[in-house]
Amino acid sequence: MDVSYLLDGLNDKQRDAVAASPQHMLVLAGAGSGKTRVLVHRLAWLMQVERVAPFSLLAVTFTNKASQEMRGRIESTIGVSLNNLWMGTFHGLSHRMLRAHYQEAGLPQGFQIIDSDDQYRLVKRVLKALNLDEKHWPPKQIQWFINARKDDGLRPGMIDASGDFSLQQMVKIYAAYQDMCDRAGLVDFAEILLRSFELLKKSAEVRSHYQQRFRHILVDEFQDTNAIQYQWLRLLAGSSAKVMIVGDDDQSIYGWRGARVENIQTFLKDFPDVDTVRLEQNYRSTDTILKAANAVIANNTGRLGKDLWTDGAQGEVISQYTAFNELDEARFIVGRIRDWHKQGDRLSEAAILYRNNAQSRVLEEALIQEGLHYRIYGGLRFYERQEIKDALAYLRLLNNRQDDAALERIVNTPVRGIGDTTLNKVREYARAQQQTLWQSLQQMLAQKQLTGRAASAIDNFMQLIEQLHNQVTELPLHEQAEHAIKQSGLYAMYQAEKGEKAETRIENLNELITACQNFDERRAEDMTPLAAFLSQAALEAGEYQAEEHSDAVQLMTLHSAKGLEFPLVFICGLEEGMFPSQQSGDDPTRLEEERRLCYVGMTRAMKKLYLTHAESRRLYGQEQYHKPSRFIREIPAEYVEEIRLTTQVSRPTQFNRFGSAASHVAFENTGFKLGQRVLHDKFGEGTVLNYEGTGSQSRIQVNFDGLGSKWLVTAYARLQAI
Ligand code: ATP
Ligand code: MG
Repeated sequence: MDVSYLLDGLNDKQRDAVAASPQHMLVLAGAGSGKTRVLVHRLAWLMQVERVAPFSLLAVTFTNKASQEMRGRIESTIGVSLNNLWMGTFHGLSHRMLRAHYQEAGLPQGFQIIDSDDQYRLVKRVLKALNLDEKHWPPKQIQWFINARKDDGLRPGMIDASGDFSLQQMVKIYAAYQDMCDRAGLVDFAEILLRSFELLKKSAEVRSHYQQRFRHILVDEFQDTNAIQYQWLRLLAGSSAKVMIVGDDDQSIYGWRGARVENIQTFLKDFPDVDTVRLEQNYRSTDTILKAANAVIANNTGRLGKDLWTDGAQGEVISQYTAFNELDEARFIVGRIRDWHKQGDRLSEAAILYRNNAQSRVLEEALIQEGLHYRIYGGLRFYERQEIKDALAYLRLLNNRQDDAALERIVNTPVRGIGDTTLNKVREYARAQQQTLWQSLQQMLAQKQLTGRAASAIDNFMQLIEQLHNQVTELPLHEQAEHAIKQSGLYAMYQAEKGEKAETRIENLNELITACQNFDERRAEDMTPLAAFLSQAALEAGEYQAEEHSDAVQLMTLHSAKGLEFPLVFICGLEEGMFPSQQSGDDPTRLEEERRLCYVGMTRAMKKLYLTHAESRRLYGQEQYHKPSRFIREIPAEYVEEIRLTTQVSRPTQFNRFGSAASHVAFENTGFKLGQRVLHDKFGEGTVLNYEGTGSQSRIQVNFDGLGSKWLVTAYARLQAI
């Protein structure tokens, strides 16, 4: 059989990795060197050449979307259906395992995944039940605490809290929270991994089943695995599966969430005879972008060390733009995208990356004004919108009455006269009896502990759910959704709201029905289509996008850009205190992680990279002034040029960085020369970098020592020559 096509489009080192005989392998290489490509070809090679059945392969990807793309690519390359191939994220795969063995895992069949928002509400409920004050025990911190322990594989009983009162309390809250989840059949994200790990550990039968099944395990983006994921892999691999891990220590960006880059070294110790392959040729970016990114990451210590080069074109210089404020920044970016689009390039080839989700709003507004379609990954996630969560809560309750989180959400939405006093009674009862809200409602009604209007409202509510259940279970999924949304009164409730927002909500509810219609029921496996859909909604919340416009600008956080590539990339908000973030300020470990994030961002760009920062920024309702990010300074000057918008300056001159050919020109309006030293009352001494405009419009840019550059209105700046 001619399998040379499996090696086409690979360099020698990549081929070695793809065609290696079955063995443990580490592919350690920098951004854009073809790691993911190698992993995909390796999968195809194993099936075609080594004759490994898809059934015997396990592949872990960073996102669900990535896994769907890979699956499609391999299917079309080798023309074999991959239905039996286990490929997905750690969460997706662990979840699949829990569904298949829910009993052994101690879960009810209809168990439901809850997101961080649900988790937050549950934590608040636990605090109330334990009579603890939220001011002393902030729910967000508790949530963080619980998840971090779970990521490390720790149950409450395994935490040594002796002598530490505060820790003892946290552990107590953790335990009560877990009880509540267990009773209601709710599983948070960290729990998915931990449960699945415990299942493998505890049940020799399940373990040996999977160990016999998986001959090869392949993991992309390995540098971001956490403790529990690594242990999970080890258990699955057992002593016979061959494991190939692919990663880049310079792109480890989830340390704050428990990821352990040391897992790479641990892997080398735990697995015998690992063959390490290093790829050094970058195929993604221009020489300029690559050299700039290499220069930035070179400032980190303790790297495993990789040289990355390209024989591609030098390409365009990186452009840096200093905006007056965040609005100007957004306008600038959108202007560049518009020009790019006018030249016939696709919008979807442009990506805007930012550090925080909160930065997207201004960018979105600017894009809307310009009439450019855009799509956000993460951010306001479709499945996290209020109306969608309401609708899903009805579906969840149909799927599992014991789902307390869902019941809490909709028992009085739309309003049916079930007030907080009544609900508090029910919560109290549920806590005392150690059971779920639904069970408590049933009993309290039967025992006439609830009376009057509240009782009949609750009775009606429970009947509604039971009736819906009876009516819809046999219907196709999208009809189930439609019935639930309409008969519950949700649809009417949002229709009665006025304004654009209400319209969007109705559109979203319709979109949810469409999503159900498009749901591939083959993915249901061991579950009902409804349960499968709900799980997917929870697991892929951040990735789902309504496909309104196929050609749209891509907006996302730097974190979610990992593994992706775009011809045109903007990284915005490059300011000290934003990126690197405030919190990383004095902590060298966190600062290095921010720098890796910057490296990830820069290396997403194929052809052209823009870096922008704003001198003042209104964020979370406050005006802030930040210095330009140190990351900008870490790029050698030869790869960057600072640009000013010529439309805003009366003089159509563009000056490069300090030291450009124009530096001898005296600025007639100010009498200052470029490069001249000046003194400002407040900012101290600095160097004149640039200027624009004339007369009262004129502005001057000064790089103040230790503060960074600022644009000042010349007339008010009162600069003195020194
Ligand atoms: P990251 O670290 O960002 O995840 P990566 O190492 O996984 O990057 P890939 O995404 O696999 O890199 O590859 C980067 C780009 O280079 C892709 O567009 C890929 O198709 C291309 N590429 C990889 N190897 C080759 C090759 N041998 N010849 C031509 N193009 C290649
Ligand atoms: Mg990759």
